[in-house]
Amino acid sequence: MDRPLKVSKFSTKAVSPFTLPPWAEVSARQQKQPLISPEDRMAYVIRLARENVERGTGGPFGAAVFEAKTGTLVSVGVNIVVLANCSHCHAEMVAIANAQKRLKTFDLSASGRPEYELVTSCEPCAMCYGAIPWSGVQRVVCGARGKDAEAIGFDEGPKRKDWASALSARNITVIQNVRRKEAVAVLQEYKKRGGRIYNPHQ
Ligand SMILES: [Zn+2]
Repeated sequence: MDRPLKVSKFSTKAVSPFTLPPWAEVSARQQKQPLISPEDRMAYVIRLARENVERGTGGPFGAAVFEAKTGTLVSVGVNIVVLANCSHCHAEMVAIANAQKRLKTFDLSASGRPEYELVTSCEPCAMCYGAIPWSGVQRVVCGARGKDAEAIGFDEGPKRKDWASALSARNITVIQNVRRKEAVAVLQEYKKRGGRIYNPHQ
């Protein structure tokens, strides 16, 4: 018979596969000015998506978590799936993980905190959509549509068609098509210049 299970106190030592490329850390540190409008916040994450491709650190996707009301940047994320050898490391997941790490909470909706907003250059795939309710973000702002990512060959996974209203039903506001054209342009340029399309089951 096995010895009785000893349940130890959780370690508080931070462990994370979601380490940002150094240039993205610098970008986050330098963005001290709050970004007030959804368009400005989107322009910032589209720049992250573009820079991620140009620096060779991952796919054409950028995201960030902001304090919804003030526009203060909390964290950034870029797609680092290949870099980190981690299928979880989509831009949205990286941004959420870094926001939670920075704010020292696994629930961004914990009482006493301001509302947080996830801004993403492309709407969430099945995985990121699934992660959003657990993250505690209360708003999601999207640029390109899932079908725009699919049009260049990325797999968005088995996401329900009414995903936006399903989030709304949980009091998470979803805003779509913000600077969609510019977000799509990054995707299309990535494809045109031979960017790697990585998917499950290849
Ligand atoms: Zn995703």
